[in-house]
Amino acid sequence: LVEESYARIKEVDGEVQAFLTLNEEGARTQAKELEANADAEAKLFGLPIGIKDNIVTKGLRTTAASQLLSNLEDPLYDATVVQKLQNEKAVTIGKINMDEFAMGSSNENSSFQATRNPWNTDHVPGGSSGGSAAAVAAGEVPFSLGTDTGGSIRQPASYCGVVGLKPTYGRVSRFGLIAFASSLDQIGPLTKSVEDNAYVLETIAGHDKMDSTSANVEVPSYTDALTGDVSDLKIAVPKEYFAEGVDEEVKASVRAALKKYEELGATWEEVSLPHSKYALSTYYLISSSEASANLARFDGVRYGRRADNAETMIDMFKQSRSEGFGDEVKRRIMLGTFALSSGYYDAYYKKAQQVRTLIKNDFDKIFEDYDVVIGPTAPTPAFKVGEQMDNPLTMYANDILTIPVNLAGVPGISVPCGFAENGLPIGLQIIGKHFDESTVYRAAHAFE
Ligand code: GLN
Repeated sequence: LVEESYARIKEVDGEVQAFLTLNEEGARTQAKELEANADAEAKLFGLPIGIKDNIVTKGLRTTAASQLLSNLEDPLYDATVVQKLQNEKAVTIGKINMDEFAMGSSNENSSFQATRNPWNTDHVPGGSSGGSAAAVAAGEVPFSLGTDTGGSIRQPASYCGVVGLKPTYGRVSRFGLIAFASSLDQIGPLTKSVEDNAYVLETIAGHDKMDSTSANVEVPSYTDALTGDVSDLKIAVPKEYFAEGVDEEVKASVRAALKKYEELGATWEEVSLPHSKYALSTYYLISSSEASANLARFDGVRYGRRADNAETMIDMFKQSRSEGFGDEVKRRIMLGTFALSSGYYDAYYKKAQQVRTLIKNDFDKIFEDYDVVIGPTAPTPAFKVGEQMDNPLTMYANDILTIPVNLAGVPGISVPCGFAENGLPIGLQIIGKHFDESTVYRAAHAFE
């Protein structure tokens, strides 16, 4: 399997450009050791995995697709998720491209390369985990890890026709994840099928004493939840998810999916998430504020590549950050620093936190009567490379349907539900109650 994975990467990655760093020597050594000591008990025995490059891997270059970290060749430890995959004998094939520090929706913000959509390489794979979605869609690895702060697993899964889950906030340890917005970030699996996805989540989920925000909640068997029976399922469909800006083709595919659920015996009703119209502005204030604080450590001293020719210490900080960060990262740092500054804090950051609570309350209220919320993952199929690069606001709008889920902290999955006329995949989003990934998976699996 490991050899097959590298053979496929050699065949297609020149075009897809999903991988930043390959672990060929390490993976081959590990595969040989596994062959010598077959351990049928290990859940992911010998299975190749690709890891998004903001997840720290011991001894394997980890850059978050930033020039600033381009010299981080030899990290000292593994993220908890990587350790857990190793315990189950998965083999790390390599590190995967992304938008720099996970800021973006198309992979075009990577400072190294722009991953392409394997269905049509004129189009983007989505982002920020675009490389993780493309690598699975192109058959380079059977599964990968991505991260989702505002949609970065689900939106690329939708664009590339694969399955991607953002777990409940706190379900999966963030120890060893290079933080973007700590109150929103979650690591999750991207796979070809719902069953594979459930299988991987079982391996990486659970409490971790190294991450104080990881929840001490029991991890059930997610694969056991895949019964195929959804006859008891009560589905809520928010009318805001069919608003202006959502493509007719996307709406039609989601309506067809709801029909299929009816045939399977489930029931659905229209509901409202009245505060979702504030989600995008709330998200960009909160996530940029947290990013400005998290990225302060990348100063060329504590972390990051140091500028060569600075004369004073202050110049050295300035130059290291000016040279190391790309435009989008700088934009977020400026916005976040402004929103947190004295005199503006109450008007922006505090207000955004209050609206965040209202958005969470909207979901809580719906989940009193329904098991899952269903709608599109993204307003459109994958757009063309270059098409949205000159307007950050257009780019931000791609996440309008995924962001409320991160603000509320609930789990959400994207599963393929059809194709647009131009042949590109469309994704269905299924959102569940806090820590109820089981019902999300059951609903997604029955539909698949
Ligand atoms: N595209 C969104 C952003 O740029 C979401 C990113 C993410 O989920 N990491 O912030």
